[in-house]
Amino acid sequence: MIIILEPHIHKDSEEYHDIIAYLENLTNIQHRVHEVNGSEQILTEIYLIGDTHSLSKEEIQGLSGVERVVRVSQEYRVLGRHGDHDQRTTAFEYNGVTFSQDNLHVFAGLCAVDTPEHVEMMMKALRDHGQVCTRMGAYKPRTSPYAFQGYGKDCLPYVFELAGKYGIKVVAMEITHDVHVDEIREALEKTGHPTGVMLQIGTRNTQNFELLKIVGRQREFPVLLKRGFGITLEESLHAAEYLAKEGNSHVIFCLRGMKTNVGDPHRNFVDFSHVPVVKRLTRMPVCIDPSHSVGSRDHSPDGLLDAQHVAAQGVIAGANMILVDFHPVPTKALVDGPQAFLMKELPWFLEDVQIARDAYEKRVALAKQYK
Ligand code: PEP
Ligand code: MN
Repeated sequence: MIIILEPHIHKDSEEYHDIIAYLENLTNIQHRVHEVNGSEQILTEIYLIGDTHSLSKEEIQGLSGVERVVRVSQEYRVLGRHGDHDQRTTAFEYNGVTFSQDNLHVFAGLCAVDTPEHVEMMMKALRDHGQVCTRMGAYKPRTSPYAFQGYGKDCLPYVFELAGKYGIKVVAMEITHDVHVDEIREALEKTGHPTGVMLQIGTRNTQNFELLKIVGRQREFPVLLKRGFGITLEESLHAAEYLAKEGNSHVIFCLRGMKTNVGDPHRNFVDFSHVPVVKRLTRMPVCIDPSHSVGSRDHSPDGLLDAQHVAAQGVIAGANMILVDFHPVPTKALVDGPQAFLMKELPWFLEDVQIARDAYEKRVALAKQYK
């Protein structure tokens, strides 16, 4: 059961103390307070755990300061949607950018940071095309221990400075260890916070529960959690809930394809049909990664790359974010060059995505008309 307090109720108010006192009197019920930073105000939600069936929803709803009470109908307690009446927000704001199930952001950028020159070319192209988000890999989890592992903390200062120089507000960056969070925080401090970072947890770490708990305990950075490539959707959604249970519900869920030869010749079997499913089951904005799904620059006779086709499929189904590999000189990329889009393809990619987004919005309007 979730108790949602009225927006003006703060922790030092009388109403708040009365509500907590009421909850402490209940037997076999524990409570946990979550502060949700909405786009306009801080909302307080109290999660009740234990034998909540015996509680009267009406009685709790009648307490002064309580806005609403939601009975949790399934397992994703914090991030889940609990029935059609659960209209709690899907939006959060980070560094001036709003993420929600109702909008779309493109995070085009380098799979792996290699040189300051390439980072600058990327950032400049993004700025020139009105973009404020990017992806930049500094810590790379690689299949072979002999493969390039990323420049790690050494590249962070120039990545952040260049992001700031070109007006980039959010950099999605994978971390594979909790010390990486500290390194990112330190580099942001040293460079004077020229940009923001969205911590990315990769598909190989989706069920690294200890990492999830640590990342969930910090609230400074939002998290992009990738679906595990060999586990069920349900298992990956539970992984997202680990973050939220620890206190960080600013989570975006990323579909990136599943590991199976059934999807050949694509690198992974594209799973973007799950975009609306994740939006129905949870309140997380949903990201798609066409680059790591398709894994090549193969194109069809119509002149479009497979990665463009799958991006459009995800967007026309309502995706809220696209994580996509670009590189100024793919032949010189240290990771995943063969799947990268070229700099000159950026405006084409963006325009193509906009066509799919417009079509999605028309589909939603049509659905409303027929309801
Ligand atoms: C990446 O986005 O760079 C990446 C390694 O993705 P994934 O975790 O989906 O393989
Ligand atoms: Mn990659």
